[in-house]
Amino acid sequence: MKRVAIVGGGAAGLCCACKTAFLAKEQGTRLQITVFEQQPRVGKKLLVTGNGRCNLTNLHAAPEHYHGGTADFVRPALAAFGVEETLAWFREHGLLTVAEPSGRVYPLSDSANSVLDVLRFAIAEKENIRLRPAEPVLEIRRAETGFQVDTEFERVAADFVIVACGGMAGAKVGGVKDGYALLQSLGHSRTALHPALVQLTTETEYPKALKGVRADAHLTLAAKRTVLARTEGEVQFTEKGVSGPAVFDLSRAAATGGEGLTLTLDFLRDYPIRDVFDRLCARREAAPRLTAADLLTGMLHNRLGRTIIRYVNQKADTPLSDLSDAALKEIARACKGFQLPVRGTEGFDSAQVTAGGIRCAEFDARTMESRIAPGLFACGEVLDVDGDCGGFNLQWAWSSGHLAGRLGK
Ligand SMILES: Cc1cc2nc3c(=O)[nH]c(=O)nc-3n(C[C@H](O)[C@H](O)[C@H](O)COP(=O)(O)OP(=O)(O)OC[C@H]3O[C@@H](n4cnc5c(N)ncnc54)[C@H](O)[C@@H]3O)c2cc1C
Repeated sequence: MKRVAIVGGGAAGLCCACKTAFLAKEQGTRLQITVFEQQPRVGKKLLVTGNGRCNLTNLHAAPEHYHGGTADFVRPALAAFGVEETLAWFREHGLLTVAEPSGRVYPLSDSANSVLDVLRFAIAEKENIRLRPAEPVLEIRRAETGFQVDTEFERVAADFVIVACGGMAGAKVGGVKDGYALLQSLGHSRTALHPALVQLTTETEYPKALKGVRADAHLTLAAKRTVLARTEGEVQFTEKGVSGPAVFDLSRAAATGGEGLTLTLDFLRDYPIRDVFDRLCARREAAPRLTAADLLTGMLHNRLGRTIIRYVNQKADTPLSDLSDAALKEIARACKGFQLPVRGTEGFDSAQVTAGGIRCAEFDARTMESRIAPGLFACGEVLDVDGDCGGFNLQWAWSSGHLAGRLGK
């Protein structure tokens, strides 16, 4: 009987265990699969994904939504077990899902528990999978045949080892550096690690005043005059800066872009600046006794409108009749180009994913097997692959976990 040790009972590790067990049954191979998990329960991180709703995939999952290792690296895994196959697998195991117009897919129950439960039930059905929670793997060594896997209390022999330890993001729910260290000890190397899909920290004067406000905006992240990234969507102001899906989209570029970055927000992205100026002039004419504090009322969230007035150094109680054309032009410019100097990003604790990881070139993209140590596989976030916000990271975990679970076949 061959023994398979899977290190990490997260999305990739659990999916991998199911695939390995399924194949063994189909091929009549005798396999014993052990999943080692450092936390008291498997799949803890899954429960917090998508704010507890678990955005388990995205209908638009394709190589261009992934960063780090090349697009060519993710392609075979997505081709072997892409969105359709993932949804079919979950459906077969009893999970109903619903897709939002953006392509994000959630369980119909709106509860991440459902996703983990379905995985746990699928595993419980398989007699040859043993889950070993609260048992971190401390060391993996090559043996004469196969590997030796050391936990605190035991040394286990394995013919195949699959490292599915995830990355450093989400420390409270299992984000650790172990996977990198284990793979490095077997000869692998890694790229620099950065938190991604994370809030940006900025100068706080305006964000603090706007804490809790959400706005739809076009966002540009630049290093002096060089644009590093652009996106659009929802921005949420926080005590320390900005958050929200659109900010997450830029966070990778912010984490890797060095110092001196500026975030520019266009809060009226569908209106050309001339149009905005004309509207401000029209309001001044129609209601000259209103004050500057109400100039943008109806166009933007009230607190945002007043903050913009402060941003351009106008007094809130100035009657509109006293605002010159030049002042209105400046306000229009601020609505379309509100600048926040970026200080950095929040750290790995708040990040959803790790940008960087074990070098993909050291693994065969068609099997996820190590080119350095045959019989060793890796999958999920531990590799240098990170996806955009919207279900792409879990899809990578399912796809790469599935491929690794084939054990090279
Ligand atoms: C707050 C938050 C929200 C997110 N929301 C989404 C979302 O909605 N959609 C989406 O696509 N992605 C989301 N992500 C990202 C997604 O959860 C991860 O990319 C995905 O879980 C990675 O899967 P993985 O199996 O590689 O790693 P993980 O799910 O992190 O699993 C790795 C497991 O390995 C265990 N482990 C680590 N070291 C050892 C060791 N030495 N021995 C034994 N076990 C070990 C860990 O405890 C962990 O359980 C979110 C992440 C966070 C933090």
